[in-house]
Amino acid sequence: TFITFEGIDGSGKSTQARLLAEHLRAQGHDVILTREPGGSPGAEEIRALVLQGDPDRWSAETEILLFTAARRDHLERTINPALAVGKIVVCDRFADSTRMYQGLSRGDLRATVDQLHSLMIGREPDLTVLIDMDPDTGHARAKSRQTAEERFEDFGANLQAQMRAGFLSLAQEFPERFRIIDGARAIDSVATDVAQTVSTHLSS
Ligand code: C5P
Repeated sequence: TFITFEGIDGSGKSTQARLLAEHLRAQGHDVILTREPGGSPGAEEIRALVLQGDPDRWSAETEILLFTAARRDHLERTINPALAVGKIVVCDRFADSTRMYQGLSRGDLRATVDQLHSLMIGREPDLTVLIDMDPDTGHARAKSRQTAEERFEDFGANLQAQMRAGFLSLAQEFPERFRIIDGARAIDSVATDVAQTVSTHLSS
């Protein structure tokens, strides 16, 4: 089973992905926790190329290619082998993040993202947990743990608002796999909801 977490910066999805992985392991499941961009040695190198250094180094189109290349490597080396032996894969961000960040933030490139996705990735998660949060709260959270080398954290509140709306409309577009969880609550309340949603899915 392939489960992804999505949401704006500061939504708490990385924390929730980790808590879900711990919860599932405690229940006896074999789980791998991974993330994008990254999740395999090659993809982590691409992550550094894209997220560190000069933000204008790559055009929007080249950036889509790099994220897709990273995802392809992550799938080949990490995700597919784990799924093949029956593990649960919990992934912090996946193709929906590229649909949003690369597809929206530097112009309307969603069609390009989708074309490359069907050509090179061709797989969607079984379940996508959208940790929904209002951008002001998310922005404040993201800022408070900002690391200088990761430029994307500097996305303004306006762009975060656009991303939030974009994620909510993606959830409408893929209703069969998306579950929306209100992230603006205590971490353990959110985690309880996530665990419940996932166990409903696993037992269906
Ligand atoms: O999920 P995480 O916060 O580690 O992601 C690092 C940064 O990369 C985020 O700030 C996010 O905005 C950016 N990102 C992106 N495009 C993606 C995935 C992440 O711009 N496809």
